Amino acid sequence: MAQATETESRKLLSGLQGVMADAAAGQERLDRITRLIAASMGTEVCSIYLLRDADTLELCATQGLAPEAVHVTRMRMGEGLVGRVARSAQPINTANAPAERGFRYMPETGEERYSSFLGVPIQRLGERLGVLVVQSRDAREYSGDEIYGLEVVAMVLAEMTELGAFIDQNTALAERHKQQVMFRGACAQEGVAMGHVWLHEPRVVVTRLVSDDPEAELARLGHAVDQMRLDIDDMLTRAPLAEGEQREVLEAYRMFAHSRGWMRRMEEDIARGLSAEAAVEKEQSTARARMETVSDAYLHDRLHDLDDLSNRLLRRLTGQGRDTGAELPPDPVLVARNIGPGELLDYGRRLKGVVLEEGSVGSHATIVARALAIPLVIHARPITTEALNGDLILIDGEQGIVHLRPEETVAKAFRDKMAMQAEAQERYASIRDKQAQALCGTVLSLQMNAGLMADLPSLPSSGADGVGLFRTELQFLTRNKVPRRGELAALYARVMDAAQGKRVVFRTLDIGSDKVLPYMKKTEEPNPALGWRAIRVGLDKPGVMRMQLQALIRAANGRPLSVMFPFIAQLEEYTQARDHLLREMDREAALGHKLPETLEIGAMLETPSLAFAPRRFFEGCDFISIGGNDLKQFFFAADRENERVRRRYDTLNVSFLTFLEQIVHRCRDTDTPLSFCGEDAGRPVEALCFAAMGLRALSMRPASIGPVKSLIRRVDLREARAVINAARANGAQSVRPAVMEWLDQLG
Ligand code: PEP
Ligand code: MG
Repeated sequence: MAQATETESRKLLSGLQGVMADAAAGQERLDRITRLIAASMGTEVCSIYLLRDADTLELCATQGLAPEAVHVTRMRMGEGLVGRVARSAQPINTANAPAERGFRYMPETGEERYSSFLGVPIQRLGERLGVLVVQSRDAREYSGDEIYGLEVVAMVLAEMTELGAFIDQNTALAERHKQQVMFRGACAQEGVAMGHVWLHEPRVVVTRLVSDDPEAELARLGHAVDQMRLDIDDMLTRAPLAEGEQREVLEAYRMFAHSRGWMRRMEEDIARGLSAEAAVEKEQSTARARMETVSDAYLHDRLHDLDDLSNRLLRRLTGQGRDTGAELPPDPVLVARNIGPGELLDYGRRLKGVVLEEGSVGSHATIVARALAIPLVIHARPITTEALNGDLILIDGEQGIVHLRPEETVAKAFRDKMAMQAEAQERYASIRDKQAQALCGTVLSLQMNAGLMADLPSLPSSGADGVGLFRTELQFLTRNKVPRRGELAALYARVMDAAQGKRVVFRTLDIGSDKVLPYMKKTEEPNPALGWRAIRVGLDKPGVMRMQLQALIRAANGRPLSVMFPFIAQLEEYTQARDHLLREMDREAALGHKLPETLEIGAMLETPSLAFAPRRFFEGCDFISIGGNDLKQFFFAADRENERVRRRYDTLNVSFLTFLEQIVHRCRDTDTPLSFCGEDAGRPVEALCFAAMGLRALSMRPASIGPVKSLIRRVDLREARAVINAARANGAQSVRPAVMEWLDQLG
């Protein structure tokens, strides 16, 4: 890069800094900046368009276009060349703008006189803020150097916008981080919550944007990068003996920290007048914007690495650590791009809710949030750039909606909803010790799902008859190596102690494919949900499962023990798993350990195939539990993790209910106890219909027991069955409308 360009660029940036330092009004600052840029770049036009709301760009200042157009000319995202730059977050550089695809003629601006056009996005950490444009009369393309220079300027403008430098009554720009914003994400754990934002990674605020001492900035950057690399090396040596793919991921991360390309770009930014931290953030913003568009998973991960490394660097350069001195609010709602299961567990039940920009329904963090019964919304973008610590936030885990800084009317409606739920919970408390007996006399057993020791205290307060599903994955997910048998035995023993004699059904490890343990070799599979998971892993590599079975036998220490195997798809898998358990019983006996007083062995029915298994299968199970989450996804061929399809088919669809009825019949034929432990068991209307179809045991989140029991106690299951049968006879697709109408009439 030519020395002259660098000097010119530094001059321009220090001019911008001068504008920032002057106590001028927002509009005046914008006007001065457009003049400075046009003069520095030798263009006839320089215009700044800022986003007025999520979808509208407005011409906020111009040098060269008609002044009357300022605050008049507006376009939507994607509209015209300016809108295209904003949407794609990519520059547009053309010698003949009117001939360019998407060009939109704005007569009020007088821009038809200008042929060449260069627009670059004004963006900050993936958030679009506006577009910076220069135009000239002569038909020429701008050089790579000029584009780069304009991007550096746009970065400074983005930070100025963020700092509120352009707000005054003339610009009528809204103050940042003050407005109500709604995010529509995806639901990963149901429930509603109201609280105050707690940012997992506090925002680093870059206030020193510009420097005219590049040597000093390069030295600062170099020092910070060296330190960061040492940290990473240290992290790698301390990391457990990761193997295979996991090792590769860590190595890729280290390699990236040494990336020459990345360093070179930051050095160039500094040479043009940015401070070291502004240079880091500029590259981070570009990476975030790219992250949205790349579909290649490997590239996406590398951009993610860059983002992570940038955060480390920014913290070093600005001295703003994770510990900002802010105090966790009493009702924290955690806001993060993503979070690991261990970190989430550390926060534990203190959290009222969690909102993530990334994540997936099957991710480890989701499993933890589910176990903690904390409402979780994922894919709420770009909440981490919008939220500030302490902002009021409402999350509706059912709808996957988040309201940040809600207006009073929204907050009030939410409060009313929560008050109603709290009232209902109180009413449920009054029936806690009563049976879930329907008016027809049928008694259901309502049990709870759990996955953590911490869940057990809710067993007595929920009124559950026992734990119908204890998911054992968490103890494996939150460690960096396989837990030891002794540790597991101690934990399972404490779970049984806490259950005080009530039945606890332990499900063996349901892991594999997308739910990869940190120390497990990840195998790429085209369809993870249909892949090598759960019992398939357990049978093919029985070491861990056998160790877990031994731990369970030792934990029982003479008490009754119930074990079930997940994801059984055919008879033989069950018999093999059962044989493993029986063999371990013999071994433990031979070693002198006390055997359980009674042993129940069950299977989870999660694949449709198992419903049609030979009679021998049903005879050979001490009990069966329907894993409705998986069973439903395979029955309808609709991925439970795919937001596009996961709500597409109603659980009360006649086909699914009829299928459940068949399973009930098969179990009845062989006197095999049957329960249902998917999420649907905790939805009162669904639970009622399952009971009407003949299910007598349901296992659900502790908080659902009250609502389900309350409804069951108000209805006659024979009547419910008659309503369902009538709807089926009428050819309904789902029995829901008929059941809802009947319930309405009951009042
Ligand atoms: C299910 O599939 O319904 C189930 C209970 O198991 P998980 O949700 O853990 O897959
Ligand atoms: Mg399952």
